[in-house]
This record gives sequence, structure tokens and C-alpha cells, in this order.
Amino acid sequence: MRGLDALGIAYDQTAMERFEAFHAILDEYNQRMDLTAVLDEDERVDRHDLDSAAPLAQGLLAQNARVIDVGTGAGFPGMPLLILRPDLQMTFLDALSKRIAFLQDALKRLNLTATALHARAEDAARMEAHREAYDAAVSRAVASSATLQELTLPFVKTGGLAIAWKGPGVQDELVAAKRAAFVLGGTVRGVSPAPVPGREDWAHCLLITDKTGKTPKAYPRKAGTPGRKPLA
Ligand code: SAM
Repeated sequence: MRGLDALGIAYDQTAMERFEAFHAILDEYNQRMDLTAVLDEDERVDRHDLDSAAPLAQGLLAQNARVIDVGTGAGFPGMPLLILRPDLQMTFLDALSKRIAFLQDALKRLNLTATALHARAEDAARMEAHREAYDAAVSRAVASSATLQELTLPFVKTGGLAIAWKGPGVQDELVAAKRAAFVLGGTVRGVSPAPVPGREDWAHCLLITDKTGKTPKAYPRKAGTPGRKPLA
């Protein structure tokens, strides 16, 4: 795929066939439900597939890592990550059941193995099977950085990472994100540029937080509170 070579990300023929099939399934569903903005093919590849692949260019996900995509929507960033790295043990999480039903169908048709879970992050992070069970929690376009820390860090094991896709506005959110991370057992490592080849003006970046200790039992707070009253 155009752009993957420039990012230094390895791929094989199966991955290319799965991207093509996933795009076709997205188009099919978009005719009957509002799943993603309809984009031309170049923009879809850049805005969704290449943007989602950013952690692979930075070597952030180890072989067989257990990863949860919090607020995955139509499968971003989780589906491109899984297509490129089928070794990942991926869980797709979203509060909207129609998106999870779409992902379950897409996974079956792409012959990929993963879990798709219909729940709010605040509730799932209190379930034993998911709490501090992941090597990485990834999240794109879901909430402000401080809110995201509370929606992602409780899922991550000590030694793991929370990775949030952000734009240039991240600088204004950093102080609050650092404070929230501190409360939740995390330490912000920093912001790392995540350029999409040919679209450098987007100034996309990843906010990377290390899970350095356990999340206190009081977090995440009840559904809706992390968004309404971000820790900071
Ligand atoms: N990550 C996808 C992307 O980048 O295209 C979807 C982004 S969409 C703007 C935000 C998604 O997050 C929606 O599908 C919404 O249902 C989900 N979401 C928001 N808050 C959530 C929460 N607390 N728990 C689970 N899902 C949530």
C-alpha cells in the first residue's frame, strides 16, 4: 500500500487483500448505516489506514501483544493494526452495539480472530477479564487527553502503554493529561510525531503514557464522569 513503505512498515499480500475486503465491507454497511464519513479511496487510506498504523512505524507493539482499542467506532485504529499484525491479540471496544455488530461481521469475513466487546470503557475496565490485562490501550478521536487517560490506563498492565492519537492541539492538553496519568498509575512519556506520508501538514502525533503502577480501585469513575469532570 502506498505509504506503508515510506513508514517502514512491513506487509504481505494477505494484508493488502484484507484492506481491500475491509473497504468493501465498510462501503456495504455505509449504504445502510452511518458508519464512517464517506471518503475517496486515497483519503480513506491516508486518514484511516496509514494514520492507524503509526505505532507500528515506531515499534511500540511487541509480538503477540494484547491490545484494546477503546472507542473503536468502525475499527480505527484497531482493524488496520490487526490486518498488518495478525499476531496481535486485539479487543475492539465500543459503547454502540451496531458498530460492534459490524466489526464482528467484518472479522468473520476477513478471517481474523479478535474480540469485539459492546460496553462503555468505564464499565469494561472494572471487569476482571479486562482490568490491567493489556500490554497497550489505543484510542483515536474519542475524548480529550485527560479523559482518555481515565478511559484507557485502567486496562493496561504495569509496564504497558496507553497510546492516544492526537493533533496539534495536544500541547494544550498536556498538563491536564500528565496530572490525570499520575492519579491513574501512569507517567506521560511524551508526544511523538506520527506523520502520514504526503500529509505532513496534518501534524498528527501520538500521546504515549507508560503504565508505571496500579490504577487505584476508585477509577475509572462511573460512566460519563471521566468526560464530564476530567481528572486534572
Ligand atoms: N476511533 C474511531 C475512529 O478514530 O474513527 C471512532 C471515533 S468516534 C468519533 C468515537 C467512538 O468512541 C464512538 O464510536 C463512540 O461510541 C465511542 N465511545 C465514546 N465514549 C466511549 C466510552 N466511554 N466507552 C466506549 N466507547 C466510547
